[in-house]
Amino acid sequence: MKTLLLSADETEKAARIILDGGIVAMPTETVYGLAADALNGKAVAKIFEAKGRPMDNPLIVHISDISQIKPLVREFPEKARLLAEKFWPGPLTIILPKSDMIPDEVSAGLDTVAVRFPSHPVAQALISVSCPLAAPSANLSGSPSPTSAQHVIRDMDGRIDAIIDGGSCDIGVESTVITLAEDVPRILRPGGVTAEEIYAVIGEIEIDRAVTEPLAEGQKVSSPGMKYKHYAPKARVILLEGGREKFAEYIRLNSDDKTGVLCYNEEKDIFSCICIPIGYENDFRSYARKMFSALREADDKGCRIVYAHCPSKEGMGLAVYNRMIRASGFRVIRL
Ligand code: AMP
Ligand code: MG
Repeated sequence: MKTLLLSADETEKAARIILDGGIVAMPTETVYGLAADALNGKAVAKIFEAKGRPMDNPLIVHISDISQIKPLVREFPEKARLLAEKFWPGPLTIILPKSDMIPDEVSAGLDTVAVRFPSHPVAQALISVSCPLAAPSANLSGSPSPTSAQHVIRDMDGRIDAIIDGGSCDIGVESTVITLAEDVPRILRPGGVTAEEIYAVIGEIEIDRAVTEPLAEGQKVSSPGMKYKHYAPKARVILLEGGREKFAEYIRLNSDDKTGVLCYNEEKDIFSCICIPIGYENDFRSYARKMFSALREADDKGCRIVYAHCPSKEGMGLAVYNRMIRASGFRVIRL
């Protein structure tokens, strides 16, 4: 199939493709999403095929107004209203019991649906002129999420109907996913809204163990996405935990011309190997923005091993930690 490359003002063209049952990659403030009509099971099935995504991994439904969530869910509890009013439009996904409108392809057979109202103007415009959109990240399953149209073209050219180029994504990491379908609200995936910010609005929350820990064989998961290999470049990623001097010394002793380092901007002159800056130290928003493109760049530059700082688990650090620990296959060296 020929993949059309559309500009940000061609959302009407994209909407027509979607309403005809096609699939289109769109920019959002988190990462690029691969969108289909959320109420058309056949169209949604094409997303799984294009990505090579396991069929048991449900999709997030994207809306362009808070009121659009009502027909999609069986209940809209007070905590959902508080979170929606505080964080929508924005990088927060809320899971609630689903209504009968949601096709099985979207919920992957679960009794719940994940819903988000993105803040990106192009995503909003596209939803407004089409319909609620089911959209996972627009990468091949398992590889780093796309934060530019070029990343999407790399993975998806010839596999999808169109790509809307909306430039680079501002947040760079996927939305925070929280379930309100159980007794205590629980974060299933950390992202652009921090646990601390959510706690300030609704009080007690849990953070799912799978956010920071590897899954034991056969362990039951709340979010099927956590079962799968994720975010991994071809290079072997190793996280190093320790201060700058130990980090620099370890890399000096263990690198060759195929070694890459995801370093802080402040460090970019101290390494002789391939150096990919990922933002300023202690600024996990900048690390998040650069992380996925840095992992792709490491592959482009032919790195066999990539060392990176092990992020903290505070604030936005938790979202970065969750992606990097998976990208590294849980390989952490404590210096
Ligand atoms: P992605 O589409 O790549 O942003 O991933 C969406 C994430 O949300 C995956 O980890 C899914 O498993 C998770 N997810 C989507 N819908 C649900 C749901 N109804 N219940 C639990 N997790 C969900
Ligand atoms: Mg994804």
